[in-house]
Amino acid sequence: MSTSTAAPGIQQEQAYYGDTYLFEAAATVVAAGTDGDGAWAAVSPNIFHPKGGGQPSDEGTLNGAPVVPSRSDNGLVVLTGGPELEPGTAVDCAINAELRKRHAALHTAGHVLGHLGESRGWISTGHSHYPGQARLDFLPEGLEAGLATPEQREQVRAELQEALDAVLARGGSVSTAMDGAGHRVVTIEGVNSEPCGGTHVARLEDLAGVTVLELKIKRGALKVRYEAEHV
Ligand SMILES: [Zn+2]
Repeated sequence: MSTSTAAPGIQQEQAYYGDTYLFEAAATVVAAGTDGDGAWAAVSPNIFHPKGGGQPSDEGTLNGAPVVPSRSDNGLVVLTGGPELEPGTAVDCAINAELRKRHAALHTAGHVLGHLGESRGWISTGHSHYPGQARLDFLPEGLEAGLATPEQREQVRAELQEALDAVLARGGSVSTAMDGAGHRVVTIEGVNSEPCGGTHVARLEDLAGVTVLELKIKRGALKVRYEAEHV
């Protein structure tokens, strides 16, 4: 269980941290208002992942009305576009389960593939887990010669796929915990641990169709495109 205390006096339990598969929840409005985008509300427990860390935001509803989650400057996850509500109001929340599972699959596969790249000595510089455009970026320095031709890139792609398949064949749990400094750390059994605020599958066995699509060096980065689905 995790709470946000960034907004003075307001506690918001981030339920999505603890359970990727919590698709519906009864909650209470802990803060609300209106701004240029219309009505907004922060609810607790909160099941909505806001955009961040390369992962897109969830889609979902608040009392049946479509809302867009985002992280406010004071650290709360706020839902915009729903009904005007008063703090203390009981509400029903729901997220798009299939989209959540897809995001979690892409995100978790990104952790594994990133680890495999770093195991080759590559230095990670960024990542995007958006469906249809998921990719990891690495520093290209020192790699250009070995990735200069399509044949070389295909060879490395095939090696990454083989290593990925081996990790997935072993399987393993995915768990989260808060470290001593208050950072959320995600641990994939047999792979690695790293700080992350995204959503992940419960076990590697939940992943399907994890494919390294392409490697290319472009605009100062080695870009590794990949795909993943939830079973
Ligand atoms: Zn993550």
